[in-house]
Amino acid sequence: CGVFGVIGLADAANFVALGLHALQHRGQEAGGIVSYDPVTGFQSARRFGYVRDNFTKASLMETLPGSLAIGHVRYSTAGSKGQTAIRDVQPFFGEFSMGGAAIAHNGNITNAEALRRELIEHGSIFQSSSDSECIIHLMARSFQKTIPERMKDALRRVEGAFSVVAMTRTKLIGVRDPLGVRPLVLGRIGDGWVLSSETCALDIIGAEFVREVAPGEMVLISPEKGVESFHPFERRASRFCIFEHVYFSRPDSILGGRSVYETRRQIGIELAREAPVEADLVCPVPDSGTPAAIGFSHESGIPYGMGIIRNQYMGRTFIEPTEQIRNMGVRLKLNVNRALIAGKRIILVDDSVVRGTTSRKIREMILDAGAAEVHFRIASPPTAWPCFYGVDTPQRDKLLASHMSEDEMRDYLGVDSLKFISLDGLYRAVGEVEGRNNRCPQYCDACFSGEYPVAPSDMIQKGFQT
Ligand code: SF4
Ligand code: MG
Repeated sequence: CGVFGVIGLADAANFVALGLHALQHRGQEAGGIVSYDPVTGFQSARRFGYVRDNFTKASLMETLPGSLAIGHVRYSTAGSKGQTAIRDVQPFFGEFSMGGAAIAHNGNITNAEALRRELIEHGSIFQSSSDSECIIHLMARSFQKTIPERMKDALRRVEGAFSVVAMTRTKLIGVRDPLGVRPLVLGRIGDGWVLSSETCALDIIGAEFVREVAPGEMVLISPEKGVESFHPFERRASRFCIFEHVYFSRPDSILGGRSVYETRRQIGIELAREAPVEADLVCPVPDSGTPAAIGFSHESGIPYGMGIIRNQYMGRTFIEPTEQIRNMGVRLKLNVNRALIAGKRIILVDDSVVRGTTSRKIREMILDAGAAEVHFRIASPPTAWPCFYGVDTPQRDKLLASHMSEDEMRDYLGVDSLKFISLDGLYRAVGEVEGRNNRCPQYCDACFSGEYPVAPSDMIQKGFQT
């Protein structure tokens, strides 16, 4: 998901809509905005579909007045999987004795089911099936006198990944979980302040990047006091999601001081060193494989070409919830550039192999178009474990790499060769020259290593074995 918030700018909701539009790659199912104005109070709008199709209509934006607003773009990882109900669309809102508060959450709470059971037993009435709603109910049960204090209480009980953007009547609030699994940045525009999942959404509104919200940090922002910083959690070594660098974030964003584009190009360079192959053309699987393919071509000296063309009007396939739509999705989204690839030995660079559905279809399309050989090079290690921290990977047994070796996957996909970047190679590409520190890994890489930095307790309760 993507989260965005603005304080201290007239018509804040308009800026939030623009920010969410720039974060649309983080969630395409639905979006929501809450604004506050002293005259009209809290107002909210939730809609299915793209931000640009909903939140640019003057009639809708006029219902969201004020100089303080937050928003959320959703893709479902927890909660009502596959069938988002409008009541699952964030931001969520709660009315407390000291006033209202709205929150938008990116990440996934790994003890949400246990918390929900406990809260329901104590009288909470849940409106949605979303894990994020727990935060509001935990806040309601806190005895603290202010909303930020209640929020600290609530978040101390929550396990897993959370980058939260919240608002009261007077403050914009940002919090990152102690490991800082999901991103969150602070920006400045004129007299106003901005919180955003990624820097690319600061650029779109002309805000200047100030800094990242630190792992475990809570920032309270008001026009009068500026940014106040708190550290409500026990300090721990951070474990940012390495897959944000590989796939999830936009290439024009800066994560941890590093250009995502440059990291991906570097992954391609590492891949070319680790797994060279003789061929005529390096092609990305667009768009997610593009920077890595550029790096691969650069390092190998093999020409780069657009052997697969993407229809710009389709979203990310994996975000389509049902298997059937996903299957069709590949053809709706990608087509082969026959004239370029006929008769050639092709290296295809993609970001990841998850179920293998995409890769199989692409191999079929490439061979149909007359390619002589197809070699897959993958910009991440084999995805053998599900993510429980906010990226929607399927159950473990649906992951190709959970039950197949690299050679078995190569045969299953029907390609001439298949190689994944090593975990160390990936760490080098994100700037860790020594590779992965196995005693104290610098990132979360659980989907590749199976080492979960936060025990997924709901899943363990259901029998999941790490
Ligand atoms: Fe990111 Fe993978 Fe960790 Fe999930 S499991 S947070 S996708 S690195
Ligand atoms: Mg892809």
